[in-house]
Amino acid sequence: MTDAIDRRRFIKTGVTTALGAAVTSQLPACSGTVTLPSGTGAERVYHGGNIVTMDDGHRHVEAVAIAGGKILAAGSLDEVMQTRTGATEVIDLRGKTLMPSFIDSHGHFMNAPQIVRWANVSGPPVGPVTRIADFVPILQAHVKQQGLKRGDWIIGYGYDRSNLAEGRELLASELDPAFPDNPVMLIHSSNHGAVLNSAAFAKVGYSEQTKTPPGGVINRVPGTQKPAGFIMETAFLPIFANMPQPSETELLDTLDAAQQIYARAGVTTCSEGATHAKDLKFLRKGADEGRLYLDIVSLPLILEVPALIREYAPDFKGGPMDLPDEAPKAFGSYRNRLKLQGVKAPTDGSPQGKTAFWTQPLLTPGPGGETNWRGQPLFPPEVVNKALKAVFDKGIQVFTHANGDAAIDMIIDAARLAGVRADQDRRTVIIHSQCMRPDQLPKYAELGFSPSFFTMHTFFWGEEHTANLGPERAAFISPMKSAIAQGLVCSNHTDFSVCPMDPMRVMWSAVTRRSRAGTVIGPDERIDRWESLKALTINAAWQIREEDRKGTLTPGKLADLVILDSDPLTVETDKILDIQVVETLKEGKSVYRRTAA
Ligand SMILES: [Zn+2]
Repeated sequence: MTDAIDRRRFIKTGVTTALGAAVTSQLPACSGTVTLPSGTGAERVYHGGNIVTMDDGHRHVEAVAIAGGKILAAGSLDEVMQTRTGATEVIDLRGKTLMPSFIDSHGHFMNAPQIVRWANVSGPPVGPVTRIADFVPILQAHVKQQGLKRGDWIIGYGYDRSNLAEGRELLASELDPAFPDNPVMLIHSSNHGAVLNSAAFAKVGYSEQTKTPPGGVINRVPGTQKPAGFIMETAFLPIFANMPQPSETELLDTLDAAQQIYARAGVTTCSEGATHAKDLKFLRKGADEGRLYLDIVSLPLILEVPALIREYAPDFKGGPMDLPDEAPKAFGSYRNRLKLQGVKAPTDGSPQGKTAFWTQPLLTPGPGGETNWRGQPLFPPEVVNKALKAVFDKGIQVFTHANGDAAIDMIIDAARLAGVRADQDRRTVIIHSQCMRPDQLPKYAELGFSPSFFTMHTFFWGEEHTANLGPERAAFISPMKSAIAQGLVCSNHTDFSVCPMDPMRVMWSAVTRRSRAGTVIGPDERIDRWESLKALTINAAWQIREEDRKGTLTPGKLADLVILDSDPLTVETDKILDIQVVETLKEGKSVYRRTAA
């Protein structure tokens, strides 16, 4: 194997740069801060395990040294040990796997401070609920754990009738005996509905007299007008929007638990992929109070950008689609672990909710029973064209949400109109890119688009996609293999909290594309394990312009590391789902350590 030769070259570069020798031309881009005072050596050396670099040139090394929050050296044990001093801590991994920690390329960090205050009433694999009798004990344990008092709201997330052995909705009357004085709301996994108990109905003013609003659902107790428990859409959304919100202090206090959702999954760069102005204010406060120990990449929603960047342009008078000249200054660098990276421009909804925008109709009726339904865009093309041109013209990175092929066509058209080309290195990220057509892949290449795929859909909604789209279109959901063959840099995300924060499940879904029912959705689009891990590390780093500081175990990069109990590259395929994070390190500091040995 040529690996040995590569490895030697690798270590040589690493140690010389790290020790401040004169090979500056070989330094990675961020190397200015790497050079150590002479005589400084490794703070810690890891060896004795399976060390995966995520670098295509040399996938494995024997040892890694870190110092000052960065990777100091990576290579053979002998060579890495040259960085050792009397103070160096030498850690034997005892066969465990060490690799770069994961980057969630798209998710919603702001859901985390909420979720840590809610009970998980999801079904497997996300949560523990399989039957009606499971709810009350789970909610009772939650009340205890959160210290909730009489009259406090008890909120659960991930409720879904399809997880229940009984196959029917939970009823208010099944919650009432245990929670007569606490309003209970169990939010449906779609976030478009919920089950309420009687105390909750009383609190929101729903009774026999309440009429079902147009576009809404209120299930009734048979033979009466009494709300039975489950409500949806326009009967639910206004209630949810008007729920009493936790105070800022209460939310700030959840930031540690919120970050632990990521840290215990081995993720050290979180995505806040659709940031409202009020959320950014909150995150900035958390950051400035020093409460962030993971990196958060925020993408302000396009319509809220003028409000967000007012501090850079206080006198700006433009409208919601205009951007001041100072706008780019707000983007691209961290302040206390919080960075605005680009602008988020949503263009359609979700495929499973049938609110994406397709060129061809679905095989099943639309969400309101429509025939020949192909969804609709959130904004007309002329609005998208104008808004995106304003962002492109300012040189700000664009992140669009596009699920259906017609929404993707709109982005392609808007980029062409704005004169976008691949050689401009804009790294326009098309989040989801789920229902692409094969002819759109070369267009991505021409425009320098980079897809952030969502292969967990093949597991969670594989059957729905097959029914709605037919097997051929469903097989091309998140087409990672074809996109890689086209030369595109692909990441793969959780869309947390739409799906759980579980990089190993993301990886498994890209490798197997197996549905809940065990069907392989698009066998030709399965990718190998190495590529599936690149989508969670170096490729995700590239999309947020951090490939020079994250994503591989390269000297000079940050010591953002994860230790896993087994090797995702070699373990039996289905065992990928069982891999446990042993420890997560952010810039060399432990941010999560599994307690059980
Ligand atoms: Zn999302």
